[in-house]
Amino acid sequence: MDNSNNVFQVDFDAVEKEVHFYEKQQAEILNIEPAVQEHWVDKNPNAFHTSQRDTTTVLFGGLTLMQDVFIQAACTGIGYKFQALECPDNEAMQVGKEFGNRGQCNPTYFTVGNLVKYLIYLRDVKGLSTKEIIASYIFTTAGACGPCRFGLYVTEYRKALRDAGFEGFRVLLFQSAGGVQQGGKDLGLDFNPKFFKAMFKAIIVGDVINLLGYRMRPYEKTEGEVNRVLESCKQLIVEKLEKNKNVMPALRDVKKKLSLVELDRFKVKPKVSVIGEFWAMTTEGDGNYHLQKFLEQEGAEVDIQPVTNWTLYMIWAQQYDSRQQLKLDLPWMEKLKLRKKLVLLKLADVVMQSWFNRYAKAAGLNDYHLADMELLAEDSHAYYANELRGGEGHMEVGKLIQSVKYQKSHLVVSVKPFGCMPSSGVSDGVQSLVTGQYPDANFLAIETSGDGAVNVYSRLQMALFKARKKAQLDMDNVLKKVGVSSEDIMESTQAEKNLSIYPQHRCALTAANAVYQLFDK
Ligand code: SF4
Repeated sequence: MDNSNNVFQVDFDAVEKEVHFYEKQQAEILNIEPAVQEHWVDKNPNAFHTSQRDTTTVLFGGLTLMQDVFIQAACTGIGYKFQALECPDNEAMQVGKEFGNRGQCNPTYFTVGNLVKYLIYLRDVKGLSTKEIIASYIFTTAGACGPCRFGLYVTEYRKALRDAGFEGFRVLLFQSAGGVQQGGKDLGLDFNPKFFKAMFKAIIVGDVINLLGYRMRPYEKTEGEVNRVLESCKQLIVEKLEKNKNVMPALRDVKKKLSLVELDRFKVKPKVSVIGEFWAMTTEGDGNYHLQKFLEQEGAEVDIQPVTNWTLYMIWAQQYDSRQQLKLDLPWMEKLKLRKKLVLLKLADVVMQSWFNRYAKAAGLNDYHLADMELLAEDSHAYYANELRGGEGHMEVGKLIQSVKYQKSHLVVSVKPFGCMPSSGVSDGVQSLVTGQYPDANFLAIETSGDGAVNVYSRLQMALFKARKKAQLDMDNVLKKVGVSSEDIMESTQAEKNLSIYPQHRCALTAANAVYQLFDK
C-alpha cells in the first residue's frame, strides 16, 4: 500500500524493504551470510472485513463524554456500528490491574480494564458466549511506536484479553505517528477521507461544545441550567451526525439556546488550566478523580485543553521532523517527497484550524484561540527539547509558561498518572525549573493512582486558596483602573451581565474582562 501521499500514515512495507536492503548490503560488505532468525511476533488478530461490517460492533472510547457520543453518531452516519464504552471508572482500573502486567502507567489500567470489564459484562450479565463476543465485537484505539508505554498498549490489551478468557478478540490500532494496523486488503474499517472527515467533525464539534460548557457553567444563575441546555444541544448535533448531515444549522441552534441561559459574568472565579498527560487530563471520571467537576464545585472556572490541540501537535511534530530531515544529505527524490509532505501537512493544519473556527463561530464560542504550535515550541524550547516525544512532549512545559506570560489562568494543574514516564520527568523535574524562572506561576502537579482522591482534593483546595486571592487581586485592579465600584456592577442589567457569550481576554479573570468590556469603552 503506497501511503506516501497520506500525511498521517507511514508506508510500513517500504520501511521494511529498505531495512532488508540495508541488511543485505552490509552482509555483502562484511562478507557474512545474513542470519536467518525467527523473531517473536505478537500475532495480534486484527482481520476485519467489509462483509462483517453489519454484524460487528466497533467498540471505542477514551475522549470526553461528549466526543465519544459524537464519534459514535458520526460513524453510525457513515455506515458503521460504533459503540462508545462508558467512561472508565475505578472498577475498570481494578480489572486492568487484575489482568494486566505489573508496573504499567495508570491510563493503561483504566482503558484496558474498561474494555475487559465490558466484555465480562457481555458474557456474565448479557449471557453472550465468548465465541459470539469475539465474532461480533472489535475494539479500536490509538497507539504509537513509543517512546513511552503508549507503544505497548496493544500488547497490553492482548495480554489482558487473553488472561480474561477472550483470546482472539480483535484490537485495531490507530498509529498516532503512523498508519493503521489492520490485517489484509479487504478493510472492514476503511480509513478513507470520508471516515476521517466524520471522525474529526465529531471531535471538533465536541471540543466546541465542551469549551462552551466550561466557560458558562461557573456563571449560571440557576444551578444545572447549562448542563440541561447542553443535553438538548447534544441531541440536536447527534441527529445531524447520525444522518451524516451538515452540523452547521444545529450549531446555530446551539448558539440560540445557550444565549437564553442567564449568566452572571461578574462572579469572581479563579481560572484553573488543566494540563498534563493527554488521557488523564481529558477523561471526566475516576481516572482523574472527576477533576473538572471538583474544580467547578470549588468555585473555579476550568480551562480545558481541546483534543484539536493534540491533533495540531501531531501535525506540528511531523512538520518539525520533516524540516529536520530536509537538512540531511538526501537524494533529490527524497527531498521532493519531504517537501510534498510539508505542503500536505500545512494544508492539514489550515483545514483543522479553519474547521474549528467555523464551528466555534456558528455555536457562539467567541474569542477562543487554538494553541499556536510554533509559539508553544518556541516558549518551551529552553526547558524541554522540541525533539523529545512521548506524553505531551514540550506542550506541557509551554502551556505553563504561557499561562504566566499571557495571564491565562490563576492556577495550572498538571495531571500526572501514576507510573507515567514522560509526565514524571516533566511535572516533577522540568516544571520545577520553570516555576523557579517564573515565580508568579501557581503550579500544582497531582498524581492519579486511582486511590488517592482525598490527598489530591486537599492539595487542590490549598492551591485554590492562592488562586482565589490572585483572582480577587485581578478584580480589584480592574475596578481601580476602569474607575467603577462593586455597586455599579450590581446595578448592571441582566443583559449586561450575560455579555453575549464570553468577554474578550485581557487578563486571566473572566469577571475582570467583563468589567473591561462593559465599562472601559
Ligand atoms: S504518556 Fe504516560 S500515561 Fe500516557 S501512555 Fe505514556 S507512559 Fe502512559
